[in-house]
Amino acid sequence: MLNDIEIAQQAEMKNIKEVAAKLDIKEDDIEMYGKYKAKLSDELIASVQKNENGKLILVTAINPTPAGEGKTTITVGLGEAMGRLNKKAVIALREPSLGPCFGIKGGAAGGGYAQVVPMEDLNLHFTGDFHAITSANNLLAAMMDNHIHQGNALGIDVNRIVFKRCMDMNDRALRHTVIGLGKRVDGVPREDGFVITVASEIMAILCLAADFNDLKERLGRIIVAYNYQNEPVTAKDLKAVGAMAALLKDAIKPNMIQTLEHTPALVHGGPFANIAHGCNSVIATKTALKLADYVITEAGFGADLGAEKFFDIKCRMNGLKPDAVVLVATVKALKYNGGLPKTELGQENLEALKKGIVNLEKHIENLQKYQVPVVVTLNRFITDTDAELAFVEKFCKDRNCDFALANVWEKGGEGGIELANAVLNTLENKKSDFKVLYKDELSIKEKISCIATEIYGAANVTYSPEADRAIAKIEEMGLGNFPVCMAKNQYSLSDDPKKLGRPEGFDINIREVYVSAGAGFVVAITGTIMTMPGLPKVPAAENISVNDDGVICGLF
Ligand code: ADP
Ligand code: MG
Repeated sequence: MLNDIEIAQQAEMKNIKEVAAKLDIKEDDIEMYGKYKAKLSDELIASVQKNENGKLILVTAINPTPAGEGKTTITVGLGEAMGRLNKKAVIALREPSLGPCFGIKGGAAGGGYAQVVPMEDLNLHFTGDFHAITSANNLLAAMMDNHIHQGNALGIDVNRIVFKRCMDMNDRALRHTVIGLGKRVDGVPREDGFVITVASEIMAILCLAADFNDLKERLGRIIVAYNYQNEPVTAKDLKAVGAMAALLKDAIKPNMIQTLEHTPALVHGGPFANIAHGCNSVIATKTALKLADYVITEAGFGADLGAEKFFDIKCRMNGLKPDAVVLVATVKALKYNGGLPKTELGQENLEALKKGIVNLEKHIENLQKYQVPVVVTLNRFITDTDAELAFVEKFCKDRNCDFALANVWEKGGEGGIELANAVLNTLENKKSDFKVLYKDELSIKEKISCIATEIYGAANVTYSPEADRAIAKIEEMGLGNFPVCMAKNQYSLSDDPKKLGRPEGFDINIREVYVSAGAGFVVAITGTIMTMPGLPKVPAAENISVNDDGVICGLF
């Protein structure tokens, strides 16, 4: 079989105008970025507002192996299958970050015969949204440091600067930096640091803003530092909002591309799910609901991270109501969760599967707390054996869960028909009574405790003295009603990546807490998770190149 990039490169793409036409979008209503990428115009978005909403289907997963479990692959394959069943469907995904592209995980265009294309464009610079976000972020940082250099009229306490520069790269050397070295004209020296662009507050804002005005309001509320009176200093105080908005003017428009079977895909925004809120933009999701009868969207990593934040942050803030959840599992990841090393996942091992399936069980229980119907799907790998597949199917059916095998990686839409029918059947016969996990009015600690005990299965939450102080300050500022965005490793339900399966009796350790007042959430950082990742010993970048014909190879 060809690898992902070869399949993508052999695809015959349709002009994006033809893809848009499937959603009754006219040529005038898209802004073309070449032949195969387009942005939706503001006029189009305004004109569809009166349309009725389609059904919203969230794709999430169990705790993953380091390679990912195939959520994007399933999302794309399900969209393709809906197309084959003549349903008006659209996919809503996040844009990939360069960090994982050049690191371990690779890109985020799906896999096999369930991919969105053009794959290289999407995984690299795409339509420049991340560049715009990075620029807006770093403009604000530059204006803040310049303000301090020019006399610091706002009285910013250089020891209490909270806003960081960002870059869309896994670069551990930028986690802790010193800036402003040199002469007086070179600025005020201070310790600083970078976050990866997909963890920046600007990314979260772009993804949570209801429209451009809301985006500007949110930008204005970003807290960059505290002054000598310990009061917040904002982007608005620095008069940075207008210029940041100018940089984001096009980035806020959703991008459209297509699957290998020409199903339309809106790919927009890309916060990570471990260190950010993990969902594509609200504007894209809401527009998609107006354009199609079925919107299939993916939230990052496992359901403990992506789905929890999709429900408790994205849906809560924007009145979105999911109609069904597709929970992706793989036999490999279940065996990995059963303690099997990565090198042995390709061989039948029912013992490890039995041990690891408790992870799936916990995610089913968690999703049922949101009162949205769940369909479990096994993303089939060629190494899976019939005995293993049968075991998982029975496990789900015993728990009253709809189940479908998906073979979209190998067969594209055709391999997703069983899943599409299961989803359609669920939408038809089971009602969603969606509710968020916790109320706005709870204290920050009560919210964290609710997520940690109900979703992760923790016994207790512990706080560092810094986290304690930060929480008190946030509540004193009157921002305690925000939802919490947990930053936690993706491999375990706990904050220790080594505790696989369904750990119990553990503590969740909150190391650091800060408020993203523009995004509208409180970030709680657990364990040793970093907001600027690093590259592995052998980065994927070592195998990426451009051949003599100008064709990119090695991306996956
Ligand atoms: P996620 O969205 O959960 O992170 P992806 O859909 O991006 O996962 O898939 C991760 C990787 O796994 C991709 O390289 C993809 O090609 C590969 N993959 C996904 N499903 C399968 C499968 N059924 N068989 C083989 N490889 C797969
Ligand atoms: Mg994905």
